[in-house]
Amino acid sequence: MTGQEQFDRYVDAGVFVAVDLVDLRRQAEGPVIPVVELARILAVDPASVELLDKADEAGFTELANQLGEVFAAIDGDRLDEAAERLNVLLALYPAHPHLAKEFGRWRLHHHPPDLPLVPMWTAICAENIARILAAGEAARLGTCDAQNCNRVYLDESKNASRRYCSTACNNRARSAAYRRRRAS
Ligand SMILES: [Zn+2]
Repeated sequence: MTGQEQFDRYVDAGVFVAVDLVDLRRQAEGPVIPVVELARILAVDPASVELLDKADEAGFTELANQLGEVFAAIDGDRLDEAAERLNVLLALYPAHPHLAKEFGRWRLHHHPPDLPLVPMWTAICAENIARILAAGEAARLGTCDAQNCNRVYLDESKNASRRYCSTACNNRARSAAYRRRRAS
């Protein structure tokens, strides 16, 4: 996995959904992620948005918490722990590869086609994150280095050199470093 072209927006949907879930959970107040926010995150798959229900809030919030622990373990260089946590998620639901036709195109899925929404996205997110770990690319599952920011991101840069979640955090960290240098 080197460079942007290798990330298929659909195949890797699980990674982007996982990143969004973790970010939302870390920033949002309140006991659960609201269903309107979930609809925005799952927009990558219109069929999921259609099925989405307020009753799914708790399940997706729990998934966000679990995925957040995986990102935290990776950020702390505890890859064994990250792998163990992913294995727990992967073992929750039976999975087998099968082809499904969507919008006239065959796609390979690993989750059973009739799973409810939260189990399905648990399987997709865990598998996509696990693939990145298995490819030796865990460093691409980043946590922002800027002070007072704990957002996570997928580093799609060529040499996996990204350190911040956004240009805003990058600039903030740069000017803080500049001020520190001037002060000393
Ligand atoms: Zn940030």
